[in-house]
Amino acid sequence: MSLEDLYSEIILDYSKNPQFKKIIENAEEYHGHNSSCGDEITLYLNEKDGKILDISFDGHGCIISQASAAMMCEILKGRSVENAKSILENILRMSRGEDYNKEVVEDIEIFEDIKNFPMRVKCFTLSWHTIENFLKNKGADK
Ligand code: ZN
Repeated sequence: MSLEDLYSEIILDYSKNPQFKKIIENAEEYHGHNSSCGDEITLYLNEKDGKILDISFDGHGCIISQASAAMMCEILKGRSVENAKSILENILRMSRGEDYNKEVVEDIEIFEDIKNFPMRVKCFTLSWHTIENFLKNKGADK
């Protein structure tokens, strides 16, 4: 897949999920920054009893960073922290070109070819590295 094809698929998908770009009041906030592209992201999270009740993002940057954040919110809303950790692990493996579980990553699989564009991998993983800071403070092994 060319970078152009990847962009058009991502943009198409992103345009379906505008509802996750918003600020949630009284939520936990996690900030991420990708200096190589200038992408900025703030995640808003409400967690209770090991479950992600609500999640959204705000920020600016390239379409890959913003689309990735929107898809992450869509896929993680309502999930348990433990489930989210498993998804995160598989997404990061996918971004490095390693074996991963396709069933676990669901629609995020459309980003699989990002591994062939090293300059863009950081854009894709920004939101995932940002939520990593949240997840490691939650769940059974905190
Ligand atoms: Zn970027």
